Amino acid sequence: MAQSILGSSAVYKPEFPRSSAATSTISGSKLKFWEIEQTQLGFLSSCKINLPLRLKASREGLGLVQESKETKPNLISKSNDSFSEMRNRFLSFKKDKYLENLECYQELAQAQAPKFLVISCADSRVCPSYILGFQPGEAFVVRNVANLVPPFENGPCETNAALEFSVNDLQVENILVTGHSCCGGIRALMSMDDDDKNSSFIKNWVKVGKAAKSTTKANASNLSFDQQCKHCEKESINNSLLNLLTYPWLESRVAEGLLSLHGGYYDFVDCTYEKWTLDYQKNSQRQESVGYAIKNREFWS
Ligand SMILES: [Zn+2]
Repeated sequence: MAQSILGSSAVYKPEFPRSSAATSTISGSKLKFWEIEQTQLGFLSSCKINLPLRLKASREGLGLVQESKETKPNLISKSNDSFSEMRNRFLSFKKDKYLENLECYQELAQAQAPKFLVISCADSRVCPSYILGFQPGEAFVVRNVANLVPPFENGPCETNAALEFSVNDLQVENILVTGHSCCGGIRALMSMDDDDKNSSFIKNWVKVGKAAKSTTKANASNLSFDQQCKHCEKESINNSLLNLLTYPWLESRVAEGLLSLHGGYYDFVDCTYEKWTLDYQKNSQRQESVGYAIKNREFWS
């Protein structure tokens, strides 16, 4: 197993000593559980009464928070409710999932060996682990606006850093680029002028998908704008799959049969999922004018 900076045992130390017997480990976890309760209860109570000096000192720089506390108590209270709910969810996860599958989580604490790299949109409605049921350790996930993969020649960015690590170090066997209906990033791409010089971070990012936009405009200009966006959402996934092949170290693994590239599309309006695989053999000989070839298309409804 490769050891590297994003997920090796050298970085992620196990929560509990592996040499401990299960009983003592669990009792150790109970101790930590209690400590968490105390810490968080302390935090919650500190919102109602004076902060302990130590906490207060660490928060003195947060002027905005303190100001909000004085002038907008309802907002702070609402925020605390959100974290209170989050805390309960976390503690339920710990009790019902983590401690119930302790051996599995202890193994994961030593190393990860996911078979999938999933590239998904940052949209709050399309969490791939939630929709596709990936369990901890099964998928290395990178999320960005509109689930785009820039080509190799664009240079370094967060997405291709994740690509490099998951392909070369983790040696994932599958890459799934998964898009979705009503994608705001794709709509921004479709809405922007191609020669727009009034740049924004969003426009600068989504223009990675400009080839998909051009194909959509060429093939689907008779459709409504909403339908064109939907067309582009799928076209952009294939554009990203082809962009993956511009990374030499990635293409060589695909050519050797060690890595497969897949597209996926989640329609959350009618809750369906479409999945397909890029046919590398045909695409490796493709002409620009011919387009791309896909295989193994499935429609889950
Ligand atoms: Zn999106």
